[in-house]
Amino acid sequence: MTTLTSAQAQTSAESYVQSVYENVVRRNPHEAEFHQAVKEIFDSLVPVFAVHPEYIEHNILERIAEPDRVVTFRVPWVDDEGNVRVNRGFRVQFNSVLGPYKGGIRFHPSVNASIVKFLGFEQIFKNSLTGQPIGGGKGGSDFDPKGKSDGEVMRFTQSFMTELYKYIGPDTDVPAGDIGVGAREIGFMFGQYKRIRGGNEAGVLTGKGIGYGGSLARKEATGYGCVYFVQEMLASRGLSFRDSTVVVSGSGNVSIYAIEKAQQLGAKVVACSDSDGYIYDPDGLDLETIKQLKEVERKRIKEYTLARPQAVYTEGCSGIWSVPSDIALPCATQNEIDEQAALLLIENGVKAIGEGANMPCNLEAIGAFQREDVLFGPAKAANAGGVAVSALEMAQNSMRLAWTFEEVDAKLHEIMRNIYGRCVDAAERYGYSGNLVVGANIAGFVKVADAAIAQGVV
Ligand code: NDP
Repeated sequence: MTTLTSAQAQTSAESYVQSVYENVVRRNPHEAEFHQAVKEIFDSLVPVFAVHPEYIEHNILERIAEPDRVVTFRVPWVDDEGNVRVNRGFRVQFNSVLGPYKGGIRFHPSVNASIVKFLGFEQIFKNSLTGQPIGGGKGGSDFDPKGKSDGEVMRFTQSFMTELYKYIGPDTDVPAGDIGVGAREIGFMFGQYKRIRGGNEAGVLTGKGIGYGGSLARKEATGYGCVYFVQEMLASRGLSFRDSTVVVSGSGNVSIYAIEKAQQLGAKVVACSDSDGYIYDPDGLDLETIKQLKEVERKRIKEYTLARPQAVYTEGCSGIWSVPSDIALPCATQNEIDEQAALLLIENGVKAIGEGANMPCNLEAIGAFQREDVLFGPAKAANAGGVAVSALEMAQNSMRLAWTFEEVDAKLHEIMRNIYGRCVDAAERYGYSGNLVVGANIAGFVKVADAAIAQGVV
C-alpha cells in the first residue's frame, strides 16, 4: 500500500468530497436547500478525510447523503365550506445508524422535497451531537395552518396521520413539532395514531401535552438550549447576556423561549417578528403580551403595538436585522440572514449569533461573520436542545415516569454544555480552533460514520 503525503491526502479528500457533492446535485435536481445543507457539511469534512482515508474507502459520504427512504403521500381533507382539498405529505427517514429516526413535522406552504431533505440531513448530525441514541428524519406538508379553524386543522392532521402511521413507531421513527406544528397539532396526531393502532404507544411522538405523556421543559427546550449554547460562546470571551441588547427573529415556539431565557439572564430583548413584519420596543419586549398574542390568540405580531404604544411596527420581516444588537438569535426560518443582513449586523456591532432556526444564515452570511470574528453558533449545535429533550421525553415514556421541570432543564443545560465542548474539541483537533461550524459538522459526522462502518454495508 502506498502512503500519501499530506498534500496528496488533502487533494484526494477534496476530490472525493467534490465528486460526491456533484453526484448529490445530479441525483437531486432543483433541490437548492438540500444542496446548500450538503455543501455546508461536506466542505468542512475535507480535513477529516485527509487524515482518515478509511472513510473514503467505505464511501461513507455517498451513503450518508442518500436517505434510507423518502415517503410522499396525498393528504385529502374537507374545509369548513365543504370543499375537498388536497395537500402533499412527506416523511424522509434519512439515517438510523444511531437510533430510531427522529425529527419534526413542518406544516408550511413552502414545504417540498428539498426542504424536508435539507432538514432531515442536518438532523442526522444534530442528533449525533446530542450524544443520545437517535437517528435523523424530518417530515411535513405544504398545508398552511394560518387562518384555518381548529376543525380544519384537526381534519387535515387526522388525514395526514392516517397515512403517516404506517411508517412510524416508538422504536422506528418518532416525529415531533416544527414550524406550524405545536401542541395542538401533536395532540391531534397522537389521538389519530392511537385510534388507528388501538394502543397507547406514548413514545411515538414527542412534544405531547403534559397531561398525556409530554415532558416538562420540552416546549422551552429549543429556545432555552440556544441561549445556553450562546452563553458558553460568550463566556469564552468573558462576555455574558447580562445588560446586552438582543434581537430575536420570529415569534413562534423557539423565539418565545429564547426571549424568555435571555431576559432571565439579564438581557434586554428589543425586537422580534413574524412573517409579515417586526416590532421594536426600546424598553425591552413584554413577553407576556407576545405569549398571549401568539400562543393563545394566534394573532399577528403587529397587534403588539396596541398593548405597548411605545413600540414601533415595521412591515417586512427582514428589516429586523437593521436593529442594533450585541447578540442576534435568528429563530424563524431558513435563509433569513443573507450577506447584506450579516454586514449590517456587523456594522452595528453584533458580537454573537446563535442559530435557533435551521439554516437561518446562508453560506455568504456565515463567511462574513467568520471573517469578522463574530461568535457564531451553528444551528445543528445551537438548536439541538429541542430534539435532546424530545429524546428525554422518549426515555420518560419508556420508564413510565415524569421528571420535574428542574430535572429536565438541568439535563438540557448539561447537554448544551457538552455539545459546545464537543464542537470546540473537534474544531481544535482538526486545526480549526474556534470555528464551531466545522467543529459541529465534524463531531456530528465522526460518530455517525464510525457507527455506519461498524454496521456494515446496509
Ligand atoms: P413556529 O411555527 O412556532 O414559529 C415560526 C416563526 O417563524 C413564526 O413567528 C413565523 O411567522 C416565522 N416564520 C415562519 N416562516 C417564515 C418565513 N418564511 N419568513 C419569515 N418568518 C417566518 O416554529 P418553531 O418556532 O418551532 O420553528 C422555528 C425554527 O426553529 C424553524 O427553522 C425550525 O425548523 C427550527 N427548530 C424548531 C425546533 C422546535 O423544537 N420547535 C427544534 C429545532 C429547530 P408566521 O407566524 O407569520 O408564519
